[in-house]
Amino acid sequence: MKKCPVCGKGNLKSAMVEEKMFGFPLGAYKGEVCDKCGESFLPQGAMGEIEKKAKEIGIWGLAEKIKVVKSGNSLCIRIPAKLARFLGLKEGREILVYPEGAKKAAFEVT
Ligand SMILES: [Zn+2]
Repeated sequence: MKKCPVCGKGNLKSAMVEEKMFGFPLGAYKGEVCDKCGESFLPQGAMGEIEKKAKEIGIWGLAEKIKVVKSGNSLCIRIPAKLARFLGLKEGREILVYPEGAKKAAFEVT
């Protein structure tokens, strides 16, 4: 029985692993799941498939680190062009911004 490399306590069991990126389903793949911490592991081939699928639906590379800049009393976040294109977001549009936890926020194109 293979031990889990993440928690070191659980055993890895064969399972179908549902992959998602930014909430988009990328299919189910044969992999291994830890019976203690729930961490999943996929073979190299599956990772390539997932990347291909994410590129097909246009979400690959949409996560990006950006700097916050000050504007008056507010803070501005630059939305990368490729994310704006993906969302169909244009200058002047309204978005709804809200927290999704202590260190996370989201926005919706309304
Ligand atoms: Zn584990």
